[in-house]
Amino acid sequence: MADDAERGKAAARRATRSARGAGTALTTERGWQYAPAPESREIVSIEPEYGLFVGGEFAPAASGRAFETVNPATEEPLTQVALAGAADVDRAVAAARIAYERIWGPMPGSERAKYLYRIARILQERSREFAVLESLDNGKPIKETRDVDIPLAAAHFFYYAGWADKLEHAGFGPDPRPLGVAGQVIPWNFPLLMAAWKLAPALAAGNTCVLKPAETTPLTALLLAEVCQQAELPPGVVNVLTGAGETGAAVVAHPGVDKVAFTGSTEVGIAIAKTVAGTGKKLTLELGGKAANVVFDDAPVEQAIEGIVNGIFFNQGHVCCAGSRLLVQESVADHVVDRLRRRLMTLRLGDPLDKNTDIGAINSRQQLDKITELSAAGEAEGAHRWSPPCELPKKGFWFAPTVFTGVSQSHRIAREEIFGPVLSVLTFRTPEEAVSKANNTPYGLSAGVWTEKGSRILWMAQKMRAGVVWANTYNMFDPASPFGGYRESGFGREGGRHGLAAYLDV
Ligand code: NDP
Repeated sequence: MADDAERGKAAARRATRSARGAGTALTTERGWQYAPAPESREIVSIEPEYGLFVGGEFAPAASGRAFETVNPATEEPLTQVALAGAADVDRAVAAARIAYERIWGPMPGSERAKYLYRIARILQERSREFAVLESLDNGKPIKETRDVDIPLAAAHFFYYAGWADKLEHAGFGPDPRPLGVAGQVIPWNFPLLMAAWKLAPALAAGNTCVLKPAETTPLTALLLAEVCQQAELPPGVVNVLTGAGETGAAVVAHPGVDKVAFTGSTEVGIAIAKTVAGTGKKLTLELGGKAANVVFDDAPVEQAIEGIVNGIFFNQGHVCCAGSRLLVQESVADHVVDRLRRRLMTLRLGDPLDKNTDIGAINSRQQLDKITELSAAGEAEGAHRWSPPCELPKKGFWFAPTVFTGVSQSHRIAREEIFGPVLSVLTFRTPEEAVSKANNTPYGLSAGVWTEKGSRILWMAQKMRAGVVWANTYNMFDPASPFGGYRESGFGREGGRHGLAAYLDV
């Protein structure tokens, strides 16, 4: 053990020395340099401007207005995108209504399935292009877009294509009917994946869609619109309206929309719930979270460390179900935190298009400001702040992986959703205390538990008030598995058979 500890300290010293001055080329514990491994952006061709996708065609906004989208890793402007206003929302909803009544609604499920399979296959065929474009527009590392976002998006289309002709066997009665036109507003943290989560079940169930991507990440939704054209999806079945919050608000409030699906902040979710109340529109909300990742003293520590890192540093912590509160049993807390720090020293922060990058850019200046402000509050309230030595690139929006220890439950960093690479560590002594601290949040989206005892996993899963509980793993997603929260994390489920209920008149 003593040897282990000494070896660990020496490795940490080496990693610390080598990490200095590193944006893209850190040195490993063995002293080797990583060669740059950039993915080429040649595969992506970005037009100087993009229109709205309405009725199967791209066209400028009625007002002629547009906005810029930038690469958050460099602040380089990528392109101009049309800004949809009320007239465009009218046009998109009308196109979706006609497509619903004349084509998509009456079409047999087996025919709808063919289109969904086609979209899924094209996504796979063009996966590299999507992965590079997503990394450019969002700032997330290419290894995540390549291995997670894009394959999962395709998997959602494949999965729901399978349901399209089997709706009568989904447990919602002999002839479940679609709702009509779905207005869908999505965030910037998983732009293509969230589009797939929204579109695939809606289309499989026979609805048509008006999708509003986030202002800072419109490009993969527009490329998906191009894929809809390539798949010869009938015009108006999918419409994409790019724009800001007002565009989303106009979609949600439009009287021609029968169903609203939203993923984003709890604040906007509440505003949407107020707009929709009393209108008869069906609503699902997938909102924020402040998940507890609970590590017991019998947990396999090395696996737990990987789970903690994946839980909060995956996607720069821009994850609604991120394990942002680490609850660790007091008897192993020092050891776990020590191992965690050593692991964080090996993370590589820098160019999102480099295949060795673990931590990419923060998505926007606004989000960076929020993370910076909340982290400063953590220090001001008395928690101890630590980050591995790493030099941040001069341009773009960057934040070093950060761990706070000595956090108490009343601290803002233990209560508010930071939505960044910031972990708050708290301790507990008994399982009851772990449960009470895990549940001490207004949210209820996800949780993790690390222990060797199966009975304890089941006990914790029953006690923790969260829509998803991962056991000895974290941030695992599958299209067949329902996902969603309750309390201030929203309501309704996406994924699996349950995800169909949101788009059927049940
Ligand atoms: P928002 O909730 O504002 O954005 C989500 C989506 O809703 C975007 O498409 C946005 O458009 C749109 N929108 C904004 N205002 C309205 C409105 N009044 N009516 C309808 N749609 C609207 O999240 P932010 O991007 O502002 O992020 C703020 C915080 O929210 C983050 O720091 C994070 O804590 C949390 N968040 C949580 C997410 C989750 O998955 N749980 C996802 C994203 C953010 P536009 O982009 O143009 O503003």
